[in-house]
Amino acid sequence: MLMCRDLARIASDYIDDELGTAQKLSVKMHLMMCRYCRSFIGNLRASTALMQAHSSQKLDEEFLRRIEERVADSLNARNTGNRNPE
Ligand SMILES: [Zn+2]
Repeated sequence: MLMCRDLARIASDYIDDELGTAQKLSVKMHLMMCRYCRSFIGNLRASTALMQAHSSQKLDEEFLRRIEERVADSLNARNTGNRNPE
């Protein structure tokens, strides 16, 4: 029988769907009986999703910022070239 502390140890693997069928089943059976672990898994799942959303958003922002810099740089170079032809 799976104990709460066993479940806490494999909770992130359960969320990532990296457990074997037997282990997954025993987690599900424990969750049916234990509301503490149900809310624990729920919180963990929510914070994992939040972290993933946050990190991908951060990547996008960084990517956009770099594109903006590239565009600004090439515009500056062109303007400088037009104003000061040598
Ligand atoms: Zn439990």
